Amino acid sequence: MNADPAELAAQLADVTDGEVQANKPLAPFTSYKIGGPTALWAAPATEAGIGRVLAFIHEKQLPLFVLGHGSNVLLSDAGWPGVTLYVGENLNGWQFDHQQAQVLAGSRLADFIRAAVTKGLGGMEQLVGIPGSIGGALRMNAGAFGREIEAVTMAVSGFSLDGSPFQAERQQIDFGYRQAPQLEKMVITSGRFQLKTADSRILQLRMQDILAIRGRKQPLEYPSCGSVFKRPPGYYAGSLIEQADLKGVHIGGAMVSPKHAGFILNTNNATAADVYALIRLIERRVYERFGVRLEREVKLIGNFVEYTT
Ligand SMILES: Cc1cc2nc3c(=O)[nH]c(=O)nc-3n(C[C@H](O)[C@H](O)[C@H](O)COP(=O)(O)OP(=O)(O)OC[C@H]3O[C@@H](n4cnc5c(N)ncnc54)[C@H](O)[C@@H]3O)c2cc1C
Repeated sequence: MNADPAELAAQLADVTDGEVQANKPLAPFTSYKIGGPTALWAAPATEAGIGRVLAFIHEKQLPLFVLGHGSNVLLSDAGWPGVTLYVGENLNGWQFDHQQAQVLAGSRLADFIRAAVTKGLGGMEQLVGIPGSIGGALRMNAGAFGREIEAVTMAVSGFSLDGSPFQAERQQIDFGYRQAPQLEKMVITSGRFQLKTADSRILQLRMQDILAIRGRKQPLEYPSCGSVFKRPPGYYAGSLIEQADLKGVHIGGAMVSPKHAGFILNTNNATAADVYALIRLIERRVYERFGVRLEREVKLIGNFVEYTT
């Protein structure tokens, strides 16, 4: 970005609502707690504000990064040299209409699921342990325990990257494993979901079971992005990594989890370069040993320099 961030921040503050800031640290907004600052930060308080930020970015041709709750990103140590459009706590809330709900994209997936369960509405309880926002979950087609968010999605609303309104019905979105191609070039501001009436106490128990299983299997005591890699057809990424003798291996402050080899943990003030070097090591080693090319689930944001280990 060539323009002065402070000057752009002043201009942007005139066109949108919510918070605008130049050179804001981003690491606290990621589950990894890693990464440098963003040149420009915009956290609109309304859906209309998001549209206006996008029109501004489009007109000035600035690089855009849409940040939800940052639980599936690895942000470069140099940060993001453009605008970070935050759709998190600033755009939070939902409305029930019988068995349906309209949910703002920044709402925590788990908070919404708990609210639905309290009302005796099920269908998403399998997803309760997934950190992150509704927008991030739609964009990633997040899933767990055989359920993906696509199963309950009726429609997605938001804006195209030029700031024009966008609406997609479920059947217009080709959801796949951790992907939703039609949502890649848009900013999601809300989703509409179809739930099912069920006994609230049974749903609560199911959620407790799911959280207990996740707690047993996953290294939740350290910052991470969850599974770094997608599940390759016919394999589990974690067991391939384990069989490649990489469990517990560390580079700098980053370590392959001894509990679940699909997770790379920030155990000791890791840098993004440490995590990235471990990602590359895993990719090389798994390919050499098993001929399997692992595909990343985590989104790398900013610049990463290749270096050999
Ligand atoms: C401990 C742990 C466990 C996890 N377990 C699971 C699991 O079981 N299943 C699973 O699927 N995932 C899991 N994840 C990964 C992650 O939680 C999900 O991918 C989640 O849906 C990401 O949501 P987010 O708001 O944090 O997105 P972010 O990390 O902020 O962003 C992820 C991607 O979505 C885009 N994005 C975010 N918000 C929007 C928006 N409003 N509009 C457009 N694009 C947007 C971003 O640009 C980025 O490309 C886990 C992560 C952790 C840390």
